[in-house]
Amino acid sequence: MPSFNDSTMPQIKPPLSLGLDNTTPIVCEHCQGDTFVEAFKFRKVSAIISPDGREGTLPFTTFVCVSCKKVPVLFDPFIEDKIQ
Ligand SMILES: [Zn+2]
Repeated sequence: MPSFNDSTMPQIKPPLSLGLDNTTPIVCEHCQGDTFVEAFKFRKVSAIISPDGREGTLPFTTFVCVSCKKVPVLFDPFIEDKIQ
């Protein structure tokens, strides 16, 4: 029977001492879905502000609602028409 070596097992600790009772669910404002998948968005970087003086792309991670395939405003820092 294999024994677990604590030093090689990843230790998953809950953040601080928060219980789920002290949290609120984040839901998609489009469909109220509460499940998301990781996705990437890309921004073009103008040559004017690019460190190497050339136009480039800047990837960043966001999350897509599994149900409606939209990115909730909360996860899209560049969205233009933020819902108040
Ligand atoms: Zn949704």
